Amino acid sequence: MANIDQSALLIALQNQLKSLEQEIEHDRESLARDGVTERGGNDLGDESSHELQTILGVDKAERDVNELIHVEAAIKRLQQGTYGKCIDCDDDIGSSRLQVNPVAERCIDCQEKLENKQDQRDSSPSL
Ligand SMILES: [Zn+2]
Repeated sequence: MANIDQSALLIALQNQLKSLEQEIEHDRESLARDGVTERGGNDLGDESSHELQTILGVDKAERDVNELIHVEAAIKRLQQGTYGKCIDCDDDIGSSRLQVNPVAERCIDCQEKLENKQDQRDSSPSL
């Protein structure tokens, strides 16, 4: 953890949090607006492309919320002094990994294990 300026990082993360909050607010506003226009529309062809846009909007909003959760968690860990420790095995995450992904909450080993598990679930035969 010696290579990371935690106070600078905290400021950067707090700024990121603020802009994410604005982004999410914006997402919600545009989704709410879309919801209103949807009821006004009477063209069926329009409706399906509109539906897709709404799905994409929801998707983006979910990604933003997800990111916000990670940023918030990283800020909490910084404040509690547990930043840079893997939440699964408690090992140091490593500063090179944190430089690439400041909100990383697991060391590379645990992250890979987790992703392998998810891959297995995703690629499990559906037939
Ligand atoms: Zn770990």
